[in-house]
Amino acid sequence: MSDLVRSAAADGKRVAAQRTGHNAAPLGSLANTVLLRTAGLGGVEIDADARSARVGAGTLWGDVMPRASDLGLAALHGSSPNVGIAGYTLGGGVGFYHRRYGLACNRVTAIELVIAGGEQIRVDAANEPDLFWALRGGGGSFGVVTALEFDLLPLPEIFAGVLLFPAQEASQVLQGWLEWSAGMPEEMTSVGRLMNFPPVPEVPDPLRGKSFAVLEAIYCGDPADGEGLVAPLRELGNAVIDTMAIQPPAGIAELHMDPPAPVPYASESLLTHDLPAAAIDSLVEAVGPYSGSQLASVEVRQGGGALSRAPQGAGALATLPGSFITFAVGVVPAPEAMAPNRAWLGAFKASLEPYDAGRYFNFVEESFDITQIFPPDVLERLRQVKLRYDPENLFHSNHPVTG
Ligand SMILES: Cc1cc2nc3c(=O)[nH]c(=O)nc-3n(C[C@H](O)[C@H](O)[C@H](O)COP(=O)(O)OP(=O)(O)OC[C@H]3O[C@@H](n4cnc5c(N)ncnc54)[C@H](O)[C@@H]3O)c2cc1C
Repeated sequence: MSDLVRSAAADGKRVAAQRTGHNAAPLGSLANTVLLRTAGLGGVEIDADARSARVGAGTLWGDVMPRASDLGLAALHGSSPNVGIAGYTLGGGVGFYHRRYGLACNRVTAIELVIAGGEQIRVDAANEPDLFWALRGGGGSFGVVTALEFDLLPLPEIFAGVLLFPAQEASQVLQGWLEWSAGMPEEMTSVGRLMNFPPVPEVPDPLRGKSFAVLEAIYCGDPADGEGLVAPLRELGNAVIDTMAIQPPAGIAELHMDPPAPVPYASESLLTHDLPAAAIDSLVEAVGPYSGSQLASVEVRQGGGALSRAPQGAGALATLPGSFITFAVGVVPAPEAMAPNRAWLGAFKASLEPYDAGRYFNFVEESFDITQIFPPDVLERLRQVKLRYDPENLFHSNHPVTG
């Protein structure tokens, strides 16, 4: 790795690290760039007593979740087992335990990386603390990460699952969920969604080509309390699928129903402040069952809680503003499908824009101005770290910090 970085620098080329390519679009032109695929940087070590993991930068969440779960532990993973741990964590990392435990980047205890001169270094709170700070939420602009170490959560069992209601019940289901979510403890993270499953063979039979209003709930408090807490959700409509149950943490790997294989898609996202009932009305009118929208998923994920509080020693992304994290995605199998998807995504965004609280690094899938994420003092500190460790801008990343 060091030789590769030195050689690229000597040839006047940039280096862009990539694992899955899930956030490849914002990279833009890769002219004069070495695209460095990190899949070979494997290896997962879990210290059950210390409740910590050390992973190679090429590992996916699916490499860690089941092994941790077997040991009664959980990671602050996201919704898909197929996402790269490094990219996800460098951009912050929100999942299903964030209201209780915060951003994944702020549970990282050490990072190993190759920096611009080709040196392989290890950074933590005591060694190169500014670089350690920048890497936790500031993205992949500072070097090629080769390994990460992070804390795991003591969660032998959780209560979690999904309820699928007929799409026609979207309004009452999402309104009821919104009201319910406001009273939930931080141990509960929930998601309200609209889903249109495409009519393709990869989608299992009961879902293929059908539309639903979907509720997800993940409770990391005492699992025995889960049934009682979600009981009101079951009363909101006529659920046709109900998977809510006590289970080990690995049981929720597929809960969010993300596609396991790469799919061509377009997306939009925004963080929002508290949402009134009128926001759900606008959302359902814009992209709900009677709107004509064929967006595969429109989700409103509960944020707030620990995401709103900067933990001691936090990284560059200390908190996430707002109360909800929203994301909409449409499948674009052919170029002519882009225009209608863009129109539905625009309608989605317009319906929530009155409540706009900012953007989230990992959910922005196009080139954009990172001043929308970081306050000026954080951005200035990130730029100073970039200037110090990569003054020639050797490392190119999806959402670049430039010196
Ligand atoms: C199906 C799906 C579900 C998702 N769910 C969630 C979710 O629940 N929560 C969430 O927070 N995000 C989620 N995301 C977004 C995801 O976290 C980002 O797309 C993230 O950038 C993916 O990282 P990656 O390494 O897989 O992607 P890549 O495109 O390979 O990498 C993205 C960027 O990460 C940096 N990077 C990656 N590896 C390295 C490295 N070794 N060294 C230096 N820089 C590196 C680079 O800057 C690169 O441009 C989801 C994405 C998808 C596709």
